[in-house]
Amino acid sequence: MPRRRLHLSLAVAAALTLGGALAATLAVSVAVGRLESGKVALAFQQRAGVRVAAIHQGLDEAVEVLTVTNQLFGAVQPVTRDQFHDFTTPLLARYPFIQAFNFHRRVGAAERVSVEAELAAIVPGVRITEMVGGHRSVAPARAFYSIVDYLEPMAGNEAAFGLDVAPNTRVMAALERATVSGRAASTDLISLAQDTRSNGGFQVIMPVYRAGAPLATAAQRRAARVGDTAAIIRAGALVQKILDGGKLQTDPSVQMWVYVGARADPARLVYASAGAPAAPPPALAGSRLERWLAPDTRISVQHTRDIAGQPWHVIVGQAERALLPDHIGSLSCLLGGILFSLLMTAFVQTLVQRSRRVQRLVNERTADLKLSNQRLIDDVAARGRAEHALQLSEQRFRQLVAMSSDWYWEQDAELRFVNITGGIDEKGGMPPERLIGRTRWEAVEGMQASAWGQAHIAQVMAHEPFEDLEYATRDDFGELRWFCVNGEPLFDERGNFSGYRGTGTDITARKLTEQRIGHIAQHDVLTGLPNRSLLQDRLAEAVAYSARSARPVWVMLVDLDRFKFVNDSMGHKAGDVLLMTIAARLRSALRDTDTVARLSGDEFVVILAEHDDEQLAPDIVQRLMDAIAQPVILGTKEFFVTCSIGVAVHPPNGAASDSLIEHADIAMYRAKKLGRNNFQFYTPAMNEEAMERVRIESALRNALERNEFVLHYQPQVNLASGQIVGMEALIRWQHPELGVVAPSRFISVAEETGLIVPIGAWVMRTACRQNKQWQDAGLGALRVAVNLSARQFAAPDLLADITGVLEQTGLAAACLEIELTESLFMSDVTTAVEVLHGMKSLGVNLSIDDFGTGYSSLSYLSRFPIDVLKIDRSFVSDIASDASDAAIVASIIALAHNLKLSVIAEGVETAEQLDYLRRHGCDEMQGYYFSRPLAADHFEHLLRQRACLPPDAAAGAVRAA
Ligand code: C2E
Ligand code: MG
Ligand code: MG
Repeated sequence: MPRRRLHLSLAVAAALTLGGALAATLAVSVAVGRLESGKVALAFQQRAGVRVAAIHQGLDEAVEVLTVTNQLFGAVQPVTRDQFHDFTTPLLARYPFIQAFNFHRRVGAAERVSVEAELAAIVPGVRITEMVGGHRSVAPARAFYSIVDYLEPMAGNEAAFGLDVAPNTRVMAALERATVSGRAASTDLISLAQDTRSNGGFQVIMPVYRAGAPLATAAQRRAARVGDTAAIIRAGALVQKILDGGKLQTDPSVQMWVYVGARADPARLVYASAGAPAAPPPALAGSRLERWLAPDTRISVQHTRDIAGQPWHVIVGQAERALLPDHIGSLSCLLGGILFSLLMTAFVQTLVQRSRRVQRLVNERTADLKLSNQRLIDDVAARGRAEHALQLSEQRFRQLVAMSSDWYWEQDAELRFVNITGGIDEKGGMPPERLIGRTRWEAVEGMQASAWGQAHIAQVMAHEPFEDLEYATRDDFGELRWFCVNGEPLFDERGNFSGYRGTGTDITARKLTEQRIGHIAQHDVLTGLPNRSLLQDRLAEAVAYSARSARPVWVMLVDLDRFKFVNDSMGHKAGDVLLMTIAARLRSALRDTDTVARLSGDEFVVILAEHDDEQLAPDIVQRLMDAIAQPVILGTKEFFVTCSIGVAVHPPNGAASDSLIEHADIAMYRAKKLGRNNFQFYTPAMNEEAMERVRIESALRNALERNEFVLHYQPQVNLASGQIVGMEALIRWQHPELGVVAPSRFISVAEETGLIVPIGAWVMRTACRQNKQWQDAGLGALRVAVNLSARQFAAPDLLADITGVLEQTGLAAACLEIELTESLFMSDVTTAVEVLHGMKSLGVNLSIDDFGTGYSSLSYLSRFPIDVLKIDRSFVSDIASDASDAAIVASIIALAHNLKLSVIAEGVETAEQLDYLRRHGCDEMQGYYFSRPLAADHFEHLLRQRACLPPDAAAGAVRAA
């Protein structure tokens, strides 16, 4: 607010205070004054009322007295002068304002003389008189007179005795009114005969009627009137008496004026208070304000009352009086208020002045402050902007740190952590407390002892920056966490080293991923064992160790026997379970330092390094085999899995490390060859065999093209008839260098390489064509049996091929028998059933070769459309020597017959065997006892010879028909 305006407003405040206080004072004073006036007026009105009432009461009483006197005349007739005297005397004493009591007698003209005489008897010389001009004179002759006859008291009133009032119209008018009304009537003011100086009195008159006259109407009363009684009353005295009686005249503040008549006619004034003016003052004609200020300054009460037909007017007024006593309150208010107003004004004035001073000071200080504030504001704004920018930058930094996976760290000159931000706790699982106050190598276990730790310590001691330092440490939960840190040295202004700062990040996830990838790359997914790649590393390590320690290292190749059969028969899942089980058994049978790796399929490699506490010995290999040979539950079935193990030893034979596995493989092959479920140590001779196998494989690829295969035929003889009923086609390989190679040497290779499919097709075609030729040559409707390998059985166009061969050769399907092994059916039974039915629908015969050696589930026998069971040679060969084998053979025969299958025994070499088979009802036989497999021409020769088996074994071997 501007200074001037403030001053002005303060001065106005002082003036307003004064004006307001005075106005309030005045208003209060006036209000109090009006209250006071009201109070005075009320008090006066009470006093006035008392006086007016007293006057009225007195006047009424006077009339009452006259009435009583009049009643004397009504009651007593005639009333004597003495009676009248006696009656009025006490009244006069009691009402001194009554001048006299009269009896006006009506006197006729004729009676004048006698009446005058009568009067004169009382007062000598009295005549009937009249008042004329204030003087009494003898009345002239009239028709009648109304004379003052009885008069009490006589003393003082003598002048009125014998006075004729008939000429007095006022008296006569009053008499007439009284006659008409029947009540007392008053005259106006009249001059009294007794007191002629003034009109100071009046008469109250009542007619006196003749006794017994009718008085019902005014005329009757007028006619009956014989006179009247009158009380002559001095008005002034009456009023005085009334007031004195009530002791009302003592109050000087009250003034009274009493008039006879309806108004304040000074001529008719009968009473005025002592000290009062002759006439009451007129009402105060002040201004409106004056009247408002003092509403009842002059109070008066006016009252008009009719007394005996005559109005009386009474004015009661307040005497002029000092204002002070009545208005002491309002005046006090006024004076006090004025004083208070002045004090308030002075106080406000002081305040105003003080506030002006304060305002001035404030203004000066404000100006100063404004100046310094502006500077301050400028300063603060500048600082605020800088701080804001700093905050923003810090906030951005924090957000960045929060968003990033990194944290930020600082170390002092002692390389101890002093500050770590950015949530190392959440991001790295490492509470900062574990680091604060410690160096990195104190906080990271094993760091000081490690080579990388030493390298790092040397680096930071040299105050060099470092990058991507990766290390692992355990968090509070014991979990291994990987960190990657970067750091740069810090130097103060003088170039002194002051510590390090840098960032850190948790790379555990990355490391784990790397490890996982590394693991996957180097381990077998199924078993979790090291794979071929890691195996090479381990092998190199083992060989290196061997070289250092001069201790041998054994490399074992473990191959499961007949795993392929399990895999094919039980399905791959069962195969997987088997492999995992074997892997676990191998692992648990060996030391942690030994390596067990999976090479492929069912092949495992074990690396054993010799240690001080245990020499390597064949027992260890046997222990491994025993562990593997424990039964395995696959699905609901129990399996006994054996393995074949080849062992290569380093360094005795000096083989290079990379040949170790190969040698072990060769040894394993040897073990397989030796009937499986055994182990073989590698010898250089084995290498020769392996080499031969390689040679066979390569030679086999050209054998078909070079027509090196031939078929030999082994006869099948009916035991009942002894006749050749069929033959089995058995392949022979006539290699130019190897000579004749037996199927056992190359069939497995052909199966492994898949060459068996074209070879098998050639066999079937050749066998069928040959059989057809022999049939066409009339050598009988023989049946030719052809072996079918698993690869062929699984070939999609098997049925088409068979159909094609039959069509091409023209051989009846019934003359073809296909030999299957049990293992063919087991991998996919549903498909096998389909294929078998397909073949069966072609009309060919189906036989199960080597029955009893494979997975002999009897259930498939009823499901598959099989015609023949071929009892394996191994059972037959031991019939004579092994009771259980003999029992098995007998059981198989019985079983086959129960299933409506025919049964043939193969590998029959002796008469005992033949005899046993015969006795047990075997249908057919095949074996050296009758004939070895023969080349086609030899077989044809045999046919042509009609060679047959004698019905009795004792009869000898083969005989020609
Ligand atoms: P296989 O099918 O069980 O054939 C019977 C084998 O027993 C033949 O051996 C046969 O010469 C031999 N043998 C027959 N009677 C006697 C006997 O009294 N005593 C002894 N010790 N052996 C006897 P081979 O010809 O060496 O054939 C061996 C195996 O090679 C056959 O066993 C068969 O599984 C397979 N094979 C032969 N030819 C073929 C072929 O063309 N295709 C396929 N897939 N496999 C064939
Ligand atoms: Mg066979
Ligand atoms: Mg066989």
